[in-house]
Parts: sequence; structure tokens; C-alpha cells
Amino acid sequence: MKRTIEDLALFGGRKAFLHPLYVGRPNKIDRSRLFDRLNWALDNQWLTNGGPLARELEDRVAELTGVRHCVATCNATAALQLLIRSAGLTGEVIVPSMTFAATAHAVRWLGLDPVFADIDPVTACLDPADVAARITPRTSAIIGVHLWGRPCAVDELEKVAADNGIQLFFDSAHAFGVTTGGRDIGGFGGAEVFSFHATKVVNSFEGGAIVTDDDGLAERLRALHNFGIGLGEVNEAAGTNAKMSEAAAAMGLTSLDSFGEAIAHNMAGYELYRRELGRIPGLGLIEYDAEERQNYQYVIARVDPETSSLHRDLLHALLHAENVIAMKYFSPAVHQMEPYRSQAPVSLPHTEHLADQVLALPTGTTVSLEDIRRVCNIVRLAITHGAEITRRAARQQSQSA
Ligand SMILES: *Cc1c(COP(=O)(O)O)cnc(C)c1O
Repeated sequence: MKRTIEDLALFGGRKAFLHPLYVGRPNKIDRSRLFDRLNWALDNQWLTNGGPLARELEDRVAELTGVRHCVATCNATAALQLLIRSAGLTGEVIVPSMTFAATAHAVRWLGLDPVFADIDPVTACLDPADVAARITPRTSAIIGVHLWGRPCAVDELEKVAADNGIQLFFDSAHAFGVTTGGRDIGGFGGAEVFSFHATKVVNSFEGGAIVTDDDGLAERLRALHNFGIGLGEVNEAAGTNAKMSEAAAAMGLTSLDSFGEAIAHNMAGYELYRRELGRIPGLGLIEYDAEERQNYQYVIARVDPETSSLHRDLLHALLHAENVIAMKYFSPAVHQMEPYRSQAPVSLPHTEHLADQVLALPTGTTVSLEDIRRVCNIVRLAITHGAEITRRAARQQSQSA
């Protein structure tokens, strides 16, 4: 354990971790099950095109999220693009800026205009009132993001969409296995999209899934993710290829087998982070509603620049020096990045305020409780000596300049 700021690696102390500690290392799986499934797929000689493993994954995801239809895809970004095309969206689509860039990029990739709305500072998800204020005659849809697995104000967003005759979808890449109001994420809006990227709580190397209760939309999604095969209309039949392979499905199924353990591990980690860091002035941890099912995939610290004398960026640098690879999820916010920054400048005060504060701390099944204790020791030391660390770091920098 580190006791004084001399112990910090930033000031010449020994690194706390020999090997880097990450956010989003692939969760542990039972390898023998994966290899059994891969061998089975090879023996079966059916490697893609809606094979039995992809179908099994779709069935399990549909059941877990309580929806009628699931279409597995090669990743979530392609799934978002497929959904936008299949739902016939045009013109402008309202999205949050406090998200991973893929949400806006998917809209943009199809030649539509993402319009950024601000967040509610309490939920960090889309503020329904701000969304409503940004609707124009060109707006065709809203795509909400359940940021860090904490659900959007789904009912309010559904009302805004219905009142304005536009569609509503969700990028639910963070919210697999989560409930809100006791209802499963997956069943809200016209459809929801999950990511099974290697860094996510359930992974299929690369992969994703779209879930929906809309029979017509499900049929279009299924056809269009396979070149349009199966759709009668010639014009509609120009599809793409966004299918999930059997190898990806084998991994996805094996990862799903361990999902319960991953959640239990993440929850214990989250509770430990909260015990260790819960009462430090200047530092906040986002909360998960214990009444709901959660995946506890992310532990997000907020370093408040008004009450902490240490800026988030310095804490980030200080942790990296210790081999603690904390991530600024999400900073800069998407509207602060190119091409949006120059091409569609907009001011989003709550998003910008939050983007200046957030830091995702190491989580996942490869991060042990002992690791978390040691990370918390460093964070506590850093925040409580914030002013002194800030002065020394500035001095160090001016000397090296
Ligand atoms: C990971 C992520 C995506 C992209 O998922 P891929 O499967 O990597 O394409 C999209 N949106 C959000 C919010 C994400 O976190």
C-alpha cells in the first residue's frame, strides 16, 4: 500500500502493478466449452449463414431480454446501421453525445444527420425535454443510450417519440441483462441493439444483436443482414452482410454461460469500490439501483473540479503511471470530436460538464478484489493530497519542458 505521495509512480515511486490493469479485458470463460462448440461447428460444416449456434444465441438473448425476435450480427455498429436502414430512417436522428462515437457514426455513415441532445445530469442519459426541443420536421427518430448500463428515461422518451410521430430505438451496448422498473432492457422503443464486442460483459469476439417485438421489422432486419435475401421487393432487397459467424456465436454462447458469474464478480467489485471510495470529498461514484437487475460492467468515478483540487486528467495520468489503465468514458464527448465539432457545432452544458469529470476504473472478471483495494488506495491518496500533487506535477512538467 502507498502511504505518501513520494510512493506514487508519477513522482518516482514503484509502479503499483507489474502488469497493466484494464477496463474491459475479456471476461473469463470456460475454454473447454468454447473448443467443444468450435469443434462441433467444424464437424457440422456450417460456419455462418444463420447456423445452429447463431440461432441458439439468438434464442437465448431473446429469452433473457424478454423479446420475441433477436437477430445476431457481426458487431453492434453494423447492427445500428442495419436498424437505421431497415426502419427507413431519414433526415435527422437525435442521439446523445455522452456515448461511444459509434452511436452517432452509424447515423452519419448512412448519410443522415446525427443531432446531439443534452443529458439529464442525474441519469447521464438523454434529457427527454432537451430531445423534444430539438425535434424538427426532418427528425425521423431518437436513438437513446443506456449509458454505463443505467437505463434511459424510457417512458418519457416513448412519450416524446409518440407525441411527435417519430421512432425510438436504443443503443443498449452497455445494458445487456439490465432491468428498469422491473422490465427488461431489450423491450423498449422499436428495437434495441446490444454489443458483444470483446470488451463488453458478454462477448463473441466481435458481435452484436438487435432485439425487437415488431414482427415486420424483425423480418426486414433478418433479410437485410443477409444481402436482402428473403425480401420480395426488388428495391428493398439491396441488403448488406452483417451476419454473425458460428465461431462468434460459439464464443457468445460460452460467454453467456459465465454471465451470472461475471455479474456476481462485478457486483462485488462495485460494492468494494463504493465502500473504499464512497465518502471522499471531491470524488463521486455513479450509483446503480439495487432494486433492479444490473450488470455492473462499469465503475465510473466523477472527479468534481469544483470540490477536488485534483483534475480528472491528472488522476488519469497518475493512475496510468501505476499501470492502472483507467479510461475517460466518455471524454471528449462525441460533439466535441471531429467531424461533428466543426460541422455541427452545438453547446451541451451538462454533457460537457460531465465529460470533464468521468473516469472508468478497472472492472471485469480479470480484476480481483485485491486489485481493487490497491487501486482505491491510490485514488484515495491522490484525491486527499490533490493540491500538493497538482503543484508538484506542474513543477515537474515545467522542469521537463
Ligand atoms: C461498444 C459500443 C458500441 C459499438 O459496439 P461494437 O460491437 O464494437 O460495434 C456502440 N455503442 C456503445 C455505447 C458502445 O459502448
